[in-house]
Amino acid sequence: MTITHIENEKLSMQIYHACQSAGYDDCGIISFEDMNEYILRTKERIHKIPDSSALYQYALHNLEQLQTQFPWARSIIICLSWLGKYRYPPKITGMYAKGFFISRDSDKNGPEYQQKLQLGRWFDKNHIQWTGAIKDRRANIWGLRQAAQAAGIGIIRRNNFLYNEYGSWVELDGFLIDQNCRLYHDKHFQPCPPNCTCCQQACPTAALSAPYTLNPARCISTITTFAKGVVPKELDEQQIGVWMVGCDACQDACPFNRRHDWSQGRDFPGLEDLIDFMQPENILSANEEELARRICPLTADHILPEDAATLKINAQRVLRNQKAKADRRQD
Ligand code: SF4
Ligand code: SF4
Repeated sequence: MTITHIENEKLSMQIYHACQSAGYDDCGIISFEDMNEYILRTKERIHKIPDSSALYQYALHNLEQLQTQFPWARSIIICLSWLGKYRYPPKITGMYAKGFFISRDSDKNGPEYQQKLQLGRWFDKNHIQWTGAIKDRRANIWGLRQAAQAAGIGIIRRNNFLYNEYGSWVELDGFLIDQNCRLYHDKHFQPCPPNCTCCQQACPTAALSAPYTLNPARCISTITTFAKGVVPKELDEQQIGVWMVGCDACQDACPFNRRHDWSQGRDFPGLEDLIDFMQPENILSANEEELARRICPLTADHILPEDAATLKINAQRVLRNQKAKADRRQD
Protein backbone atom coordinates (compact mmCIF):
# COMPACT_ATOMS: atom_id res chain seq x y z
CA MET A 1 0.00 0.00 0.00
CA THR A 2 1.29 3.49 -0.88
CA ILE A 3 -0.56 5.50 1.78
CA THR A 4 1.88 7.96 3.34
CA HIS A 5 -0.16 10.38 5.34
CA ILE A 6 -3.40 9.78 7.12
CA GLU A 7 -5.59 11.67 9.61
CA ASN A 8 -8.53 10.27 11.53
CA GLU A 9 -6.99 6.93 10.66
CA LYS A 10 -9.72 4.48 11.63
CA LEU A 11 -12.48 6.22 9.67
CA SER A 12 -10.21 7.13 6.74
CA MET A 13 -9.24 3.48 6.30
CA GLN A 14 -12.85 2.36 6.64
CA ILE A 15 -13.76 4.77 3.81
CA TYR A 16 -10.87 3.46 1.73
CA HIS A 17 -12.17 -0.11 2.06
CA ALA A 18 -15.79 0.96 1.47
CA CYS A 19 -14.64 2.55 -1.84
CA GLN A 20 -13.00 -0.72 -2.86
CA SER A 21 -16.19 -2.62 -2.05
CA ALA A 22 -18.05 -0.19 -4.33
CA GLY A 23 -15.79 -1.25 -7.21
CA TYR A 24 -13.27 1.59 -7.11
CA ASP A 25 -9.62 0.77 -7.67
CA ASP A 26 -8.16 3.59 -5.60
CA CYS A 27 -9.16 6.43 -3.32
CA GLY A 28 -7.67 9.47 -1.59
CA ILE A 29 -9.11 12.05 0.80
CA ILE A 30 -8.10 15.73 0.78
CA SER A 31 -9.16 19.10 2.19
CA PHE A 32 -10.60 22.09 0.31
CA GLU A 33 -7.26 23.86 0.89
CA ASP A 34 -5.59 21.13 -1.16
CA MET A 35 -7.51 22.51 -4.16
CA ASN A 36 -5.56 25.81 -4.06
CA GLU A 37 -3.15 24.41 -6.65
CA TYR A 38 -6.15 23.78 -8.92
CA ILE A 39 -7.28 27.39 -8.57
CA LEU A 40 -3.79 28.57 -9.49
CA ARG A 41 -3.49 26.27 -12.53
CA THR A 42 -6.98 27.19 -13.75
CA LYS A 43 -6.15 30.91 -13.61
CA GLU A 44 -2.98 30.18 -15.61
CA ARG A 45 -5.04 28.41 -18.28
CA ILE A 46 -7.41 31.35 -18.58
CA HIS A 47 -4.41 33.60 -19.08
CA LYS A 48 -2.79 31.31 -21.70
CA ILE A 49 -5.95 30.51 -23.72
CA PRO A 50 -8.42 33.41 -23.27
CA ASP A 51 -10.89 31.57 -25.55
CA SER A 52 -11.30 28.97 -22.79
CA SER A 53 -12.13 31.64 -20.21
CA ALA A 54 -15.89 30.96 -19.89
CA LEU A 55 -15.39 27.28 -19.16
CA TYR A 56 -12.60 27.73 -16.64
CA GLN A 57 -14.29 30.65 -14.88
CA TYR A 58 -17.21 28.30 -14.40
CA ALA A 59 -14.83 25.70 -12.96
CA LEU A 60 -13.53 28.22 -10.40
CA HIS A 61 -17.07 29.26 -9.56
CA ASN A 62 -17.97 25.58 -9.02
CA LEU A 63 -15.47 25.21 -6.19
CA GLU A 64 -16.77 28.31 -4.39
CA GLN A 65 -20.35 27.13 -4.88
CA LEU A 66 -19.63 23.73 -3.37
CA GLN A 67 -18.51 25.31 -0.12
CA THR A 68 -21.50 27.63 -0.05
CA GLN A 69 -24.08 24.96 -0.87
CA PHE A 70 -22.59 22.29 1.38
CA PRO A 71 -21.16 24.29 4.32
CA TRP A 72 -20.96 21.14 6.44
CA ALA A 73 -18.42 19.54 4.07
CA ARG A 74 -15.00 18.96 5.65
CA SER A 75 -13.27 16.59 3.23
CA ILE A 76 -13.21 15.65 -0.44
CA ILE A 77 -12.99 11.96 -1.31
CA ILE A 78 -11.64 11.14 -4.78
CA CYS A 79 -12.40 7.67 -6.08
CA LEU A 80 -10.69 6.21 -9.14
CA SER A 81 -11.94 3.47 -11.45
CA TRP A 82 -9.40 1.88 -13.84
CA LEU A 83 -11.20 1.41 -17.17
CA GLY A 84 -8.41 -0.64 -18.72
CA LYS A 85 -9.88 -3.69 -17.01
CA TYR A 86 -12.39 -3.85 -19.89
CA ARG A 87 -11.56 -4.82 -23.44
CA TYR A 88 -12.53 -2.37 -26.16
CA PRO A 89 -14.04 -3.62 -29.45
CA PRO A 90 -11.80 -2.88 -32.48
CA LYS A 91 -14.84 -2.05 -34.66
CA ILE A 92 -15.54 1.10 -32.66
CA THR A 93 -11.93 1.97 -31.78
CA GLY A 94 -10.92 5.33 -33.28
CA MET A 95 -14.59 6.24 -33.71
CA TYR A 96 -16.06 6.26 -30.20
CA ALA A 97 -13.95 7.51 -27.28
CA LYS A 98 -13.17 4.69 -24.88
CA GLY A 99 -13.60 6.77 -21.74
CA PHE A 100 -17.30 7.32 -22.51
CA PHE A 101 -18.37 3.91 -23.70
CA ILE A 102 -16.75 1.90 -20.91
CA SER A 103 -17.61 4.47 -18.27
CA ARG A 104 -19.15 3.00 -15.14
CA ASP A 105 -21.70 5.83 -15.45
CA SER A 106 -22.87 4.86 -18.91
CA ASP A 107 -25.69 2.53 -17.95
CA LYS A 108 -27.41 3.71 -14.77
CA ASN A 109 -29.25 0.39 -14.49
CA GLY A 110 -26.15 -1.67 -15.19
CA PRO A 111 -24.11 -3.58 -12.60
CA GLU A 112 -21.11 -1.21 -12.75
CA TYR A 113 -23.11 1.89 -11.80
CA GLN A 114 -25.25 0.04 -9.28
CA GLN A 115 -22.10 -1.10 -7.47
CA LYS A 116 -21.07 2.56 -7.07
CA LEU A 117 -24.29 3.28 -5.20
CA GLN A 118 -23.15 0.95 -2.43
CA LEU A 119 -20.78 3.68 -1.23
CA GLY A 120 -23.67 6.07 -0.54
CA ARG A 121 -25.48 3.36 1.38
CA TRP A 122 -22.32 2.75 3.43
CA PHE A 123 -22.10 6.48 4.34
CA ASP A 124 -25.75 6.44 5.39
CA LYS A 125 -25.30 3.32 7.48
CA ASN A 126 -22.35 4.92 9.27
CA HIS A 127 -24.22 8.22 9.85
CA ILE A 128 -21.83 10.22 7.68
CA GLN A 129 -23.38 13.22 5.96
CA TRP A 130 -22.33 13.08 2.33
CA THR A 131 -23.04 14.23 -1.16
CA GLY A 132 -21.64 13.63 -4.62
CA ALA A 133 -22.72 13.71 -8.25
CA ILE A 134 -24.44 10.34 -7.87
CA LYS A 135 -26.79 11.93 -5.31
CA ASP A 136 -27.09 15.60 -6.25
CA ARG A 137 -26.04 17.19 -9.57
CA ARG A 138 -25.04 20.38 -7.70
CA ALA A 139 -22.32 18.34 -6.03
CA ASN A 140 -20.54 17.62 -9.30
CA ILE A 141 -16.95 18.54 -8.40
CA TRP A 142 -14.88 20.15 -11.16
CA GLY A 143 -11.11 19.74 -10.90
CA LEU A 144 -11.21 16.10 -9.86
CA ARG A 145 -8.01 15.41 -11.79
CA GLN A 146 -6.22 18.02 -9.69
CA ALA A 147 -7.84 16.59 -6.56
CA ALA A 148 -6.60 13.10 -7.48
CA GLN A 149 -3.10 14.47 -8.03
CA ALA A 150 -3.24 16.25 -4.66
CA ALA A 151 -4.21 12.94 -3.06
CA GLY A 152 -1.25 11.26 -4.76
CA ILE A 153 -3.28 8.68 -6.69
CA GLY A 154 -2.27 10.01 -10.11
CA ILE A 155 -0.33 12.58 -12.10
CA ILE A 156 -1.66 15.12 -14.60
CA ARG A 157 0.36 14.92 -17.79
CA ARG A 158 0.89 17.49 -20.54
CA ASN A 159 -2.22 16.34 -22.39
CA ASN A 160 -4.25 17.36 -19.28
CA PHE A 161 -5.34 13.81 -18.46
CA LEU A 162 -4.83 12.16 -15.12
CA TYR A 163 -2.73 9.00 -15.21
CA ASN A 164 -2.43 6.29 -12.61
CA GLU A 165 0.36 3.72 -12.75
CA TYR A 166 -1.29 2.00 -15.75
CA GLY A 167 -2.13 5.03 -17.90
CA SER A 168 -4.83 7.63 -18.46
CA TRP A 169 -7.88 5.38 -18.80
CA VAL A 170 -9.31 6.29 -15.45
CA GLU A 171 -12.64 7.63 -14.30
CA LEU A 172 -12.95 9.81 -11.22
CA ASP A 173 -15.80 10.40 -8.81
CA GLY A 174 -15.86 12.91 -5.97
CA PHE A 175 -17.74 12.93 -2.68
CA LEU A 176 -18.02 15.50 0.09
CA ILE A 177 -18.34 14.32 3.68
CA ASP A 178 -18.83 16.06 7.00
CA GLN A 179 -15.87 14.30 8.66
CA ASN A 180 -12.26 15.51 8.85
CA CYS A 181 -10.38 12.70 7.16
CA ARG A 182 -7.16 12.72 5.09
CA LEU A 183 -5.61 9.96 3.03
CA TYR A 184 -2.64 10.75 0.78
CA HIS A 185 -0.59 8.36 -1.33
CA ASP A 186 3.00 8.53 -2.49
CA LYS A 187 3.30 6.65 -5.77
CA HIS A 188 6.33 8.33 -7.42
CA PHE A 189 5.00 8.73 -10.95
CA GLN A 190 7.61 9.17 -13.66
CA PRO A 191 7.17 12.65 -15.24
CA CYS A 192 6.65 13.23 -18.98
CA PRO A 193 9.98 12.92 -20.86
CA PRO A 194 11.44 16.44 -21.25
CA ASN A 195 11.10 16.72 -25.04
CA CYS A 196 7.97 14.66 -25.60
CA THR A 197 5.28 16.34 -27.70
CA CYS A 198 3.53 13.17 -28.99
CA CYS A 199 0.16 14.24 -27.62
CA GLN A 200 0.31 17.70 -29.19
CA GLN A 201 1.39 16.32 -32.53
CA ALA A 202 -1.43 13.76 -32.48
CA CYS A 203 -4.14 16.35 -31.88
CA PRO A 204 -5.97 16.70 -35.23
CA THR A 205 -7.34 20.18 -34.55
CA ALA A 206 -4.51 21.84 -32.54
CA ALA A 207 -6.85 22.09 -29.58
CA LEU A 208 -3.85 20.93 -27.56
CA SER A 209 -1.41 23.57 -28.79
CA ALA A 210 0.84 23.66 -25.72
CA PRO A 211 1.38 21.51 -22.62
CA TYR A 212 -1.31 21.73 -19.93
CA THR A 213 -3.64 23.86 -22.05
CA LEU A 214 -6.74 23.12 -24.05
CA ASN A 215 -8.95 25.12 -26.35
CA PRO A 216 -12.29 23.37 -25.75
CA ALA A 217 -13.90 24.99 -28.81
CA ARG A 218 -11.41 23.18 -31.09
CA CYS A 219 -11.48 19.88 -29.19
CA ILE A 220 -13.19 17.02 -31.04
CA SER A 221 -14.52 15.73 -27.76
CA THR A 222 -16.45 18.96 -27.27
CA ILE A 223 -17.46 19.36 -30.92
CA THR A 224 -18.98 15.88 -31.19
CA THR A 225 -20.89 16.15 -27.88
CA PHE A 226 -21.65 19.43 -26.08
CA ALA A 227 -21.34 21.50 -29.29
CA LYS A 228 -23.93 19.19 -30.89
CA GLY A 229 -21.71 18.20 -33.82
CA VAL A 230 -21.22 21.76 -35.11
CA VAL A 231 -17.68 22.25 -36.41
CA PRO A 232 -16.37 25.78 -35.73
CA LYS A 233 -15.63 27.91 -38.80
CA GLU A 234 -11.88 27.98 -38.21
CA LEU A 235 -11.68 24.18 -38.66
CA ASP A 236 -12.06 22.01 -41.75
CA GLU A 237 -14.52 19.21 -40.98
CA GLN A 238 -12.02 16.71 -42.35
CA GLN A 239 -9.87 17.42 -39.29
CA ILE A 240 -12.51 15.62 -37.24
CA GLY A 241 -11.83 12.45 -39.28
CA VAL A 242 -14.03 9.50 -38.30
CA TRP A 243 -14.63 10.43 -34.68
CA MET A 244 -18.33 9.90 -33.95
CA VAL A 245 -18.33 10.67 -30.23
CA GLY A 246 -15.29 12.00 -28.36
CA CYS A 247 -11.65 11.62 -29.35
CA ASP A 248 -8.77 9.57 -27.92
CA ALA A 249 -5.94 10.81 -30.14
CA CYS A 250 -3.89 12.66 -27.50
CA GLN A 251 -4.17 9.73 -25.09
CA ASP A 252 -3.53 6.96 -27.62
CA ALA A 253 -0.34 8.69 -28.78
CA CYS A 254 1.12 8.88 -25.29
CA PRO A 255 4.00 6.51 -24.46
CA PHE A 256 2.51 5.97 -21.00
CA ASN A 257 -0.58 4.43 -22.63
CA ARG A 258 1.01 2.50 -25.46
CA ARG A 259 1.69 -0.63 -23.46
CA HIS A 260 -1.99 -1.23 -22.81
CA ASP A 261 -3.58 -4.03 -24.83
CA TRP A 262 -7.27 -3.30 -25.45
CA SER A 263 -7.92 -6.79 -26.78
CA GLN A 264 -7.55 -8.08 -23.22
CA GLY A 265 -9.91 -7.73 -20.27
CA ARG A 266 -13.54 -8.38 -19.56
CA ASP A 267 -16.45 -7.35 -21.75
CA PHE A 268 -18.16 -4.13 -20.73
CA PRO A 269 -21.80 -5.07 -20.03
CA GLY A 270 -23.97 -4.62 -23.12
CA LEU A 271 -21.38 -2.95 -25.37
CA GLU A 272 -20.67 -5.88 -27.72
CA ASP A 273 -24.38 -6.11 -28.61
CA LEU A 274 -24.38 -2.52 -29.92
CA ILE A 275 -21.32 -2.53 -32.14
CA ASP A 276 -23.12 -3.02 -35.45
CA PHE A 277 -25.77 -0.48 -34.55
CA MET A 278 -23.01 2.04 -33.73
CA GLN A 279 -21.64 2.09 -37.29
CA PRO A 280 -22.33 5.54 -38.85
CA GLU A 281 -24.60 4.27 -41.64
CA ASN A 282 -26.83 2.54 -39.07
CA ILE A 283 -26.87 5.61 -36.81
CA LEU A 284 -27.99 7.66 -39.79
CA SER A 285 -30.88 5.34 -40.63
CA ALA A 286 -32.06 4.89 -37.01
CA ASN A 287 -34.77 7.10 -35.58
CA GLU A 288 -33.89 9.59 -32.86
CA GLU A 289 -35.99 7.83 -30.24
CA GLU A 290 -33.92 4.69 -30.70
CA LEU A 291 -30.65 6.65 -30.54
CA ALA A 292 -31.82 8.43 -27.38
CA ARG A 293 -32.63 5.09 -25.80
CA ARG A 294 -29.69 2.96 -26.96
CA ILE A 295 -26.69 5.25 -27.52
CA CYS A 296 -27.07 8.51 -25.56
CA PRO A 297 -27.05 6.76 -22.16
CA LEU A 298 -23.64 5.29 -23.08
CA THR A 299 -21.98 8.67 -23.53
CA ALA A 300 -21.58 9.26 -19.79
CA ASP A 301 -23.97 12.24 -19.98
CA HIS A 302 -22.06 13.92 -22.85
CA ILE A 303 -24.98 13.61 -25.31
CA LEU A 304 -28.32 13.85 -23.55
CA PRO A 305 -31.28 11.90 -24.97
CA GLU A 306 -32.96 15.15 -26.11
CA ASP A 307 -29.83 15.88 -28.20
CA ALA A 308 -29.83 12.52 -30.01
CA ALA A 309 -29.81 14.39 -33.36
CA THR A 310 -26.13 15.17 -32.61
CA LEU A 311 -25.36 11.53 -33.40
CA LYS A 312 -26.89 11.84 -36.86
CA ILE A 313 -24.96 15.06 -37.57
CA ASN A 314 -21.75 13.29 -36.54
CA ALA A 315 -22.59 10.22 -38.62
CA GLN A 316 -23.18 12.35 -41.74
CA ARG A 317 -19.81 14.05 -41.29
CA VAL A 318 -18.00 10.73 -40.71
CA LEU A 319 -19.52 9.27 -43.89
CA ARG A 320 -18.52 12.40 -45.88
CA ASN A 321 -14.99 12.17 -44.52
CA GLN A 322 -14.73 8.46 -45.30
CA LYS A 323 -15.89 9.12 -48.87
CA ALA A 324 -13.47 12.03 -49.31
CA LYS A 325 -10.63 9.80 -48.13
CA ALA A 326 -11.62 6.99 -50.51
CA ASP A 327 -11.86 9.50 -53.41
CA ARG A 328 -8.37 10.83 -52.64
CA ARG A 329 -7.02 7.28 -52.73
CA GLN A 330 -8.47 6.76 -56.22
CA ASP A 331 -7.00 10.00 -57.65
S1 SF4 B 1 -9.30 14.93 -27.34
FE1 SF4 B 1 -8.67 15.00 -29.50
S2 SF4 B 1 -9.14 17.06 -30.22
FE2 SF4 B 1 -9.23 17.10 -27.95
S3 SF4 B 1 -7.19 17.75 -27.36
FE3 SF4 B 1 -7.14 15.50 -27.40
S4 SF4 B 1 -6.45 14.96 -29.47
FE4 SF4 B 1 -7.05 17.13 -29.50
S1 SF4 C 1 2.50 12.25 -25.01
FE1 SF4 C 1 4.41 12.81 -23.98
S2 SF4 C 1 4.13 14.94 -23.31
FE2 SF4 C 1 2.10 14.11 -23.85
S3 SF4 C 1 1.28 13.40 -21.92
FE3 SF4 C 1 2.27 11.65 -22.86
S4 SF4 C 1 4.39 11.65 -22.09
FE4 SF4 C 1 3.49 13.64 -21.61
